[in-house]
Amino acid sequence: MSSCFGILVLRKAGHDASSLAREGLRFTHVRNPKQRWEGVSLGLEDCIFCKIAKGEIGALVYEDEFVAAFNDLNAQAPVHVLIVPKKHIARLSDVTDNEDACIMGKVLLAANKIAAERGIAEEGYRVVVNCNEGAGQSVWHVHFHLLGGRKLGWPPG
Ligand code: 5GP
Ligand code: ZN
Repeated sequence: MSSCFGILVLRKAGHDASSLAREGLRFTHVRNPKQRWEGVSLGLEDCIFCKIAKGEIGALVYEDEFVAAFNDLNAQAPVHVLIVPKKHIARLSDVTDNEDACIMGKVLLAANKIAAERGIAEEGYRVVVNCNEGAGQSVWHVHFHLLGGRKLGWPPG
């Protein structure tokens, strides 16, 4: 299969590099000059939030069977925690069955617990999920932003 053909197949299926990244996939060109073939290999993307959730990098501020949480690298408020399911789900709109919906419920329970632990439960906190580029999603592992510790304006930008 030539690389052009491989890319054509992906394009016909409605994919490009960024849509594959959203599914947690990446494609790389594979070329063997001696045998004179080229191809496209599909592999699971290294997901940064999967790695953090597994404790491979960074530090967790909360963990249970289904959920992991860690401080946002670029905090937008005195409390800015990212809460993720341990299961790789690329974005909120991919949650379509009861099993994943239950996991999202566990994420919200964790948000409530962390807000209480951080002492922002009474004054108020915000839980935000950005779904897809237009809403500002930049990491393709669904994550809930828990924000608090300052007055939060509305509407959001
Ligand atoms: P989004 O824009 O997808 O809603 O939010 C992604 C968030 O992840 C951003 O607030 C960004 O600061 C945070 N972020 C991106 N990469 C990392 C990382 O490697 N570690 C941590 N702790 N946060 C990250
Ligand atoms: Zn992931």
